[in-house]
Amino acid sequence: MRGAQIHCPQCVAFLGMCRLSIGRVVACRRMLVATGATCLRDTVAMAPHPVPVPLIVAITARALFDLEHSHSLFESEGIQAYADHQRLREDDVLEPGIAFPLVRKLLALNDNAPPDAPHVEVILLSRNSSDTGLGIFNSIHHHGLAITRATFTSGAPTWPYIKPFGAQLFLSANADSVRGALEHGVAAATILPAKAPQQRSRQLRIAFDGDAVIFGDEGERMSRQDGLEAFTRHERERAREPLSGGPFKGFLDALHRLQAAFPAGEAAPIRTALVTARSAPAHERVIRTLREWEVRLDEALFLGGRAKGPFLEAFGADIFFDDSLHNIDSARQHVAAGHVPHGVANS
Ligand SMILES: [Mg+2]
Repeated sequence: MRGAQIHCPQCVAFLGMCRLSIGRVVACRRMLVATGATCLRDTVAMAPHPVPVPLIVAITARALFDLEHSHSLFESEGIQAYADHQRLREDDVLEPGIAFPLVRKLLALNDNAPPDAPHVEVILLSRNSSDTGLGIFNSIHHHGLAITRATFTSGAPTWPYIKPFGAQLFLSANADSVRGALEHGVAAATILPAKAPQQRSRQLRIAFDGDAVIFGDEGERMSRQDGLEAFTRHERERAREPLSGGPFKGFLDALHRLQAAFPAGEAAPIRTALVTARSAPAHERVIRTLREWEVRLDEALFLGGRAKGPFLEAFGADIFFDDSLHNIDSARQHVAAGHVPHGVANS
């Protein structure tokens, strides 16, 4: 009997799994002690809960802070002038850059998060030396950002460190780094450095293009090669055939898992949108693919070629990802935008 799990005569399942009154629970506990049996409920309660996979975002210093003055010094006068300037100003607080509001909102998700919510971590990847990077850490501390992990590579590429950190998203001002990350299967986008945009809400709002971002670029390829009419016919005929996954599918999955741990509705801390140039009837394949993947996007905008910028402003995107530079140019006038150099539009 000792160590066994036996059917309990008092409760509905196994010994000790009492969905009963206190008195009967006590009786059951006495029986457990007397018999030395274990209770399945206790076993379940003691089993270690699987630790949710964290959401990890890697970001460069130029995306996080406004470093454009020192960067132009580097471009015009070289590394030594840049290093001297950085050391001289290392106690100055850096102004927030283009991705600062996004990072602040991501890290704020850890405050009061439900216990089963994945932890959010932001990693700093910098081509500075650790010596010149001291000012960047000072500013991180000043702004109260909980960023503790960083690499300083003294000019060497930073992207090889993305995978060991387990990051699902990489944001950088350097297009070569972004291409390196994408080629190694990490969602990555180039963001043009600028001062931080105005924050309009506490909710984190992320918008994605569909083809060649969330999905593969087969649709984009088809419409370029054979025209819009052939593309529309092709998509209508294959409406029930799921699209392939694009470079941002993994990040969208991770974001969805995080979102699912929080309450839904108006109070939800994250809101997502698909903002695509597709329109009916090419919408159906998109909707069915997301259903197949069991990923929910809160809003879906089928714009049929209308400029995306005003719609992204109306959505209030903290960041928008698109593979088309034409769409990025429109988006950038309204919100922070990350170019995804992937697929036929970038080959
Ligand atoms: Mg696209």
